[in-house]
Amino acid sequence: DSRVTETIYMKAHFNYDPMKDRLIPCKEAGLPFQDGDILEIVNSDDSNWWQARFADIDGPTGLIPSKNLEEKRKAFVQHDYDNSSSSLFCGLTKKKKKKYKYNTKANTDFDRCDVLIYEEVRRMSPFQRSVLVLVGANGVGRRSLKERLIRDDPRRFSGVIAHTSRAPRENESDGKGYFFTDRETMAVDINNNKYIEFGEYNGNLYGTKLEKIYEVKQSGKMCVLDVNPTSLKILKTPEFMPYIVFIAAPSVEVLKVMYEEGHRLSTTGRAKEEDFIRTVRESAQIEQTYKAYFDLILVNDSFEQTYRSLRKALTSLTSTQQWVPVNWVY
Ligand code: 5GP
Repeated sequence: DSRVTETIYMKAHFNYDPMKDRLIPCKEAGLPFQDGDILEIVNSDDSNWWQARFADIDGPTGLIPSKNLEEKRKAFVQHDYDNSSSSLFCGLTKKKKKKYKYNTKANTDFDRCDVLIYEEVRRMSPFQRSVLVLVGANGVGRRSLKERLIRDDPRRFSGVIAHTSRAPRENESDGKGYFFTDRETMAVDINNNKYIEFGEYNGNLYGTKLEKIYEVKQSGKMCVLDVNPTSLKILKTPEFMPYIVFIAAPSVEVLKVMYEEGHRLSTTGRAKEEDFIRTVRESAQIEQTYKAYFDLILVNDSFEQTYRSLRKALTSLTSTQQWVPVNWVY
């Protein structure tokens, strides 16, 4: 058999400094790295220490903690924390913590703890993704970015129309604004996982149907979504190959200035100080919980600048190679 074993690449989802590591047998032999770095695993025979080097750089190899070791260490550290919502081991209940086990069922928001240590990735030739997901806090300007993309280049970008159980208003008709349906049908479809997300507002159900995303994909356009971060797990599949951009909130002061300059950051009428504070807080929470999913982070401190950066990033997808989850390649 002349096949060469494929090189293993891991994307790190934490910072590592061997000088601060009490477990490493020899600190000088360690390889320091940052969250987001791509590491080539040169040797993984030892269950605790892997030998690695940075991908694409012909640099020296060094020791890094194996996934197994890092999982154990994080579970152990978590032991001392009193609140599970604060960090990596979100979803652990107090009782389960003692056994170092995940309890993912308890909290669907956090049920992707397994990706947070290392994520196996593959290099892929330049290609355009078919789904663009803009995640971020409410009021951070995702809707405006999405609308601007579609307005500027309707042959390339398309949104999806949501479904709702509320009755159409006077100027609305099916497919214009929303697809209108009844609550019962919608509830059944939600139960059958036909929606990537849904919510209730004023006693009515609203949600985005998976089939609407397929339809856009079929048309050859890039589907632009500004959905809830809880949908990321459903969307990050070989089928959608999404490009996930986190639109981060700037400071409360900058948000206020942007709002006063006339940017529609919110759809809920006049924004108040507390709305800006809520946006900034929510943004930090989403970032902390979901950052392992993000391909790109843009701080929206100037709408025009953010829009230009987004366009530039989308263009560069078609000209640079990309690191993608290993299961996208097969
Ligand atoms: P309206 O009925 O005035 O068109 O929308 C009222 C609210 O429904 C919106 O402000 C938003 O909070 C919610 N909504 C609209 N579309 C969706 C959707 O696709 N998903 C979810 N979860 N909520 C939506």
